[in-house]
Amino acid sequence: MHRITIAKGDGIGPEIMDATLRILQAAGAPLEFDEVEIGEKVYRAGNTSGISSQAWQIIRQNRIFLKAPITTPQGGGYKSLNVTLRKTLNLFANVRPCRSYHPCIQTRHPELDVVVIRENEEDLYAGIEHQQTPEVVQCLKLISRPGCEKIIRYAFEYARQHGRKKVTCFTKDNIMKQTDGLFHRVFQEIAAEYPEFQSEHLIIDIGTARLADTPERFDVIVVPNLYGDIISDVVAQITGSVGLAGSANIGTSFAMFEAIHGSAPDIAGEDKANPSGLLQAALMMLDHLGETEVAARIKNAWLKTLEEGLHTADIFRKGYSRQLLGTTAFADAVIARL
Ligand code: NAD
Repeated sequence: MHRITIAKGDGIGPEIMDATLRILQAAGAPLEFDEVEIGEKVYRAGNTSGISSQAWQIIRQNRIFLKAPITTPQGGGYKSLNVTLRKTLNLFANVRPCRSYHPCIQTRHPELDVVVIRENEEDLYAGIEHQQTPEVVQCLKLISRPGCEKIIRYAFEYARQHGRKKVTCFTKDNIMKQTDGLFHRVFQEIAAEYPEFQSEHLIIDIGTARLADTPERFDVIVVPNLYGDIISDVVAQITGSVGLAGSANIGTSFAMFEAIHGSAPDIAGEDKANPSGLLQAALMMLDHLGETEVAARIKNAWLKTLEEGLHTADIFRKGYSRQLLGTTAFADAVIARL
């Protein structure tokens, strides 16, 4: 048995977490859960960090955290709990695999199979943002050589372990010569240590345009934090929906698994959300724990559900889909195919 921490989060979080947990339990995944309350309710109770010290203790103790999306309150005074969790637990690598499920899910990119590896602690997300004068605000972009080395080496090692062929780096070093320049330079140095891989660098703007147009030319992509946040939503969306992709936040002592999307307040409580992103994250968690057999069994049941055209609203398309299902019925359909 693995004891893990879960948080049901905000918006669609509780719905997709319940669906995911039901599938995990029906498959007999050897997991025990400690639930923590984080996000909106905690913010509203006056805790501006969105997390209690007791929740931190449980997360640290269990080391593995399956987290549903949370809503970050707008306005000053509140910290993004997502950023705080990633930084406090030193989750330096954010791994976001995205692939097409052609012909089950409609996409213009049937060959798409891309893993975005996003640096997760530095860049404009380092949290150094302040008001300089009443009319001027500043956010500092922080990039360190050790941070670049860690994430870029991780990307090449990931490529090696997963039989990938090419690693691409995106930066904007024609403008940010120091910060992005350092990331690019370290990429070239480390790429030279892995001659078996094709490696390339593209400026982020044309890189993103090509990614949206011909994603099949990419394999593993390693990027600074903000670019990774943006391009992984682009890639997931062109596979069919942002609701399809999961992610792993990996550090040396802790790991946190979550969907790539947010709390989708526009559809919260309507039983419309696709639980697949969080389910994919849970499968990455099972693989991380060495529970590969049960992960593969759930993945097959999930693929069978999609293949049979049983789709949630975000991926439902005439001609591809057979039946429109809500979150709960989609989870039931996966369970019936385990
Ligand atoms: P979002 O990802 O929540 O939603 C964007 C669009 O995608 C919406 O139309 C939504 O309905 C749709 N969508 C997202 N997930 C879906 C799913 N599983 N099934 C079907 N449709 C889905 O982005 P947003 O609206 O910009 O952000 C909402 C909140 O989420 C914000 O407070 C933001 O800070 C937060 N957020 C949290 C995380 C996280 O917890 N890791 C990540 C991103 C955003």
